Amino acid sequence: MESSRPASVSSPDGALRPGALWVGSIWRNAARWRTALRSPHRVGWRSELAFDRRAFVMLATAAALAGAVLGSLHGEHSQRRQSDAQAREIGAEVEAMLDRVDLALTGVEQWVRSVTGASDALQEMGCPATLSTALIRLSLEAPDARGVGLQHSNGACGPLGSYPGVPQVRADDLPVATLLIETDRTIGERTWMFRRIDAQAVAFAELDALALQRALRLPAAAGSASLVALRPTSGDDGSRSPSRVSGEGAEGSVSLWRSPNRPVAVRVRPNPSARAEAIGSPAVTGAIVAVLLAGAGAAWRWNRLLARVRLSERIARGLRKRQFEPFVQPQVAMATGRCVGAEVLARWRHPIRGLIGPGEFIEEAERSGLVVPMTEQLMRKAAQRLAAAARADRALRFAFNITPADLCRPGFVGLLNAEFHADTIPREQVVLELTERDALDEIAQQRLVELRAAGWKVAIDDFGTGHSSLALLERLRVDELKIDQAFVRTVDAQTVNRPVLDAITALGRDLSVPLLAEGVETATQAAYLTARGVQHAQGYHYARPMPIEAFERWLLANAASTGHPLPDGEALARFEHEVVALGEAMRGADGVCVRDRRWRARVWPQCFVGREAVDWIVRARGVPRARAVQLGRALTAFGLLRHVAGEHDFEDAMLFYRWVAQGESAHGDGPPVPAGMAAALRGPQGVALGDHRRGLAIHRGCASGRAIVDWIAQTRGVSRDRALRWGEQLMREGRVQHVLHARPFRDDRTLYRLI
Ligand code: C2E
Ligand code: CA
Ligand code: CA
Repeated sequence: MESSRPASVSSPDGALRPGALWVGSIWRNAARWRTALRSPHRVGWRSELAFDRRAFVMLATAAALAGAVLGSLHGEHSQRRQSDAQAREIGAEVEAMLDRVDLALTGVEQWVRSVTGASDALQEMGCPATLSTALIRLSLEAPDARGVGLQHSNGACGPLGSYPGVPQVRADDLPVATLLIETDRTIGERTWMFRRIDAQAVAFAELDALALQRALRLPAAAGSASLVALRPTSGDDGSRSPSRVSGEGAEGSVSLWRSPNRPVAVRVRPNPSARAEAIGSPAVTGAIVAVLLAGAGAAWRWNRLLARVRLSERIARGLRKRQFEPFVQPQVAMATGRCVGAEVLARWRHPIRGLIGPGEFIEEAERSGLVVPMTEQLMRKAAQRLAAAARADRALRFAFNITPADLCRPGFVGLLNAEFHADTIPREQVVLELTERDALDEIAQQRLVELRAAGWKVAIDDFGTGHSSLALLERLRVDELKIDQAFVRTVDAQTVNRPVLDAITALGRDLSVPLLAEGVETATQAAYLTARGVQHAQGYHYARPMPIEAFERWLLANAASTGHPLPDGEALARFEHEVVALGEAMRGADGVCVRDRRWRARVWPQCFVGREAVDWIVRARGVPRARAVQLGRALTAFGLLRHVAGEHDFEDAMLFYRWVAQGESAHGDGPPVPAGMAAALRGPQGVALGDHRRGLAIHRGCASGRAIVDWIAQTRGVSRDRALRWGEQLMREGRVQHVLHARPFRDDRTLYRLI
């Protein structure tokens, strides 16, 4: 159900909207996401995807932009700090240089003041020799100055007499203290420093261009520095308070260092390319990091989402194709070992991956709500296929796992009534298992009470792991408590949970509710539990989950071995007879049409298609289709029919099989044929397993059919034919799993061959 269209963050014409609208969209989508998580049915997976795709584009772009802006700000800031420091350093050097030149100017001033009538002499004689001598000495003492001199209304005197090129400065224009320089001068030009001596005379010094250049030198790539004359403000006596290096007067990222003593400043202008580099590199790095982070986050989220969406979509497809199958695990009375019923467990017969256990799909099915149609499919199939066993022994109970979603769906009672009746499994033989971990709301509890009143049996699954209220147990009067296997395991493990197991068994006794122990794997566990009054058990110690056909044979064997022939054990035996006879009839003259067939460009000699066989059984036996399919399956299960491709596959060195992992080994067990062979195959001297590549897919830990057949033939000393049949049996029982497929009998494209 897709009640909402894909969340839109684009304008109707598809173009992304800017700014606030984006934010609004993200917010709306976030709300939709939250709704989707809370109630998976509200928002279809398509809109979840649409939301994520757009949101990720926006988030990644936003992250990249933020990264770029942050990087750029950071770059600008560090660049500025660097040029500030350079300006400060150069400034200190320039200041020291100006101090030295200033000293020379002081020398000139002192000469003027020490020589009586110096001004008059200058007026009359131009540049007197005594002045030149003094200026030579002062110039030599000030290596930072090209020359030192004295300007007067008559002209400028230097060490060599007149000093050409000195800018005309009127003494009245100068403040009392030193001042230099004209406007913004660059290195290489003539730079002057003046000091007013009196109303007529001004001392001057020409700064040595090379020395100044040296002081203002910067690393080539860093940019350029220059000395700047600031316009003195009126009353400026040069004794300024130390000013900030940058700030007022600085433009952009240009750094300005002001002399604390003179109206001069050092200006550092960074090289534009160095600037771009300094700003660019952190910006680019920031942007790249942001994009990578956003990308990684998006990919992670996206993958999880896709995995989930894909899984739920695959489950939905599997449901449409009716690929979910009921397996059953026998439950026994511990005292006698006799079967008292079975739990129906879901298996997914995947066309490519073979049999898949519920560990891989149940959680997602519950999350997505697909568990409801799944329960329906399983109940329908199990009710039909278990009918014979139920009829054979009316004391058997068949347990179905249900969830609160099942319980609360409209029509659940109708489904139960439709599927379970005298022709299938009557309701007295049905147990509904609800796990204790599920929180049951008032409606669900009420529904349970009603179901129980209507004659359906209710068991609490995984007892001890949840928080079932005793009040509910009282109100419900459940028919069975299933002790979770986590507690059963504590019998061997001697853990702190062992007292919990004892408490649970005591509680069961107090409530007078029959107890069933789950996951009983050892005789020790069975003995311990029996001693504490647990009547029933289910676990690998007795039997693993198995296909229904295998269960029917297991039942016969169980009845025989426990000395308790089934009340109507005949029925089952008759069923087996019926199946064998059917096989014979099919093979007979008017049997199902057997011929050579081409299937995917390959010719399969002497075979038929499942659908035709079902049709034939319907006609020949006058049974409904469901029964015909059941009989067809039984034919396969009893080894009377063989899947053409399956047979071929098993020997084909190109096709691979793998062992059912320990955790999933619940996929189907029958009586071991031959005993222990599966374990031996898996054991240290077993068949060599490897990773095999087929097409683009790598199948891990598997062996080719031929390798398995060879191994069986060699180690058991049997013919290859026999080994092949044994191998197939292992495959049917789920001990060896085809990495590619196992098709249901009904599939019209599947070819069978009579054996
Ligand atoms: P559960 O209802 O507690 O079922 C018992 C699980 O324990 C089964 O796993 C069974 O194969 C496994 N088991 C039985 N005996 C032993 C044993 O001796 N040792 C160990 N280690 N395990 C044992 P399975 O079939 O993989 O099912 C897992 C769970 O998936 C079930 O736990 C049940 O909660 C859920 N599930 C299975 N089928 C259905 C279904 O049709 N509907 C729903 N809603 N849930 C199902
Ligand atoms: Ca269960
Ligand atoms: Ca359980």
